[in-house]
Amino acid sequence: MSLQSNLRTLDVSQHAEQNLIDFSGVSSAVTTILQRALAGFEITEHEGTQLFQSIGKDINAIVKCADIIRQRSVGDQASFVITRNINFTNICYMGCKFCGFSKGKNDADAELLSMQEMAQRAQEAWDRGATEVCIQGGLHPDLPADHYRKILVSIKQQVPQMHIHAFSPFEIFFGAKNSNMSYKEFIADLMAHGLDSMPGTAAEILDVEIRKQLTRDKLTTEQWVEIISTAHELGLPTTATIMYGHIDAPHHWAAHIALIREMQKKHRGFTEFVPLGFVHYESPLYTDRKKLKLNVRPGPTANENILMHAVSRIMLNGWIDNIQASWVKLGPAYAIQMLRAGANDLGGTLMDESITRSSGGVHGEEILPEDMVKMIQDSGLAPFRRNTLYNTLENFDHAAPSQRIASCGGALA
Ligand code: SF4
Repeated sequence: MSLQSNLRTLDVSQHAEQNLIDFSGVSSAVTTILQRALAGFEITEHEGTQLFQSIGKDINAIVKCADIIRQRSVGDQASFVITRNINFTNICYMGCKFCGFSKGKNDADAELLSMQEMAQRAQEAWDRGATEVCIQGGLHPDLPADHYRKILVSIKQQVPQMHIHAFSPFEIFFGAKNSNMSYKEFIADLMAHGLDSMPGTAAEILDVEIRKQLTRDKLTTEQWVEIISTAHELGLPTTATIMYGHIDAPHHWAAHIALIREMQKKHRGFTEFVPLGFVHYESPLYTDRKKLKLNVRPGPTANENILMHAVSRIMLNGWIDNIQASWVKLGPAYAIQMLRAGANDLGGTLMDESITRSSGGVHGEEILPEDMVKMIQDSGLAPFRRNTLYNTLENFDHAAPSQRIASCGGALA
């Protein structure tokens, strides 16, 4: 099926772009899929799986194709946002097996921030140039029903112009249940009190069997889709995520991305797609894998990381323009390479990253804006600072030609 409404017509210059891909030594199956993608055809879930299973020179061609499609979609620029993560509580009763962040109520390092503390952190962030706070927390069993609303009110009272990007679909599920409200009523109420957008986290892998193994009683795929679709119907934008590199496989990734694409066709509510590699070091899913009798991998391989960014760019072409490389998961050097493998955004400066560090992540809790600019310049793209909804706030110089790196082009393969 051709994406008539979303892809530009193939023109002479695009034929020239195809010639930039060295198809010698590339399998005929991958060559056919990439040529179809470059000609504006939608890549099917089955074709996506084939791309994810690629090795050797096929990966180089996929990466180059993704880089070309990124250039066509958003040009030779990449973005970041100044934001602060505020994880208001790490107390959670869910026990997701992959999570190293949650604590019991009586644990010595259990934490629940006061409204005053949250407002103060938002003010500090604003004073440091942040345009967004990203607020998520554990599912604290004793939270009063109106806790989520109070968070929004206290931050908006302190910093009215701050964009509040908050509450995962699992928190929406939990809050709606505690408030005896439908998802629609609960989200609408939060929007009326200052919610500006939602993170599309808690998606992990949108597959029934995989989700069952990752956590007991966790939000089902259908519930995740229903909550996000409800947000989109109400006009609330969200991100979309995938957590990969644990007990999952290429066909799960392609199915997940195809589902996100179908949702986007209906409501156009996703601002970006964010691949999040599994961080295994202190994750119970990995450390207890023998007890759990699960064959858990220690996070994605280098090839899987690069393919995730490249194939998601190719599969989502025409529907989601922004593919984010997470420096928290990948590390800065590797995130730079993803900018030439389909990604066009480095996400947020974060200031207080703690969720990934709790699972043993080693890439720190903050990247300064000037370092974000340098990272993007090092990729050969032009940096700009954006707000949550990808409006440009500040442009920076493009890197000097001598500083540019070439496309990583599968050097990681
Ligand atoms: S992932 Fe979220 S819901 Fe699951 S245990 Fe961790 S904090 Fe709780």
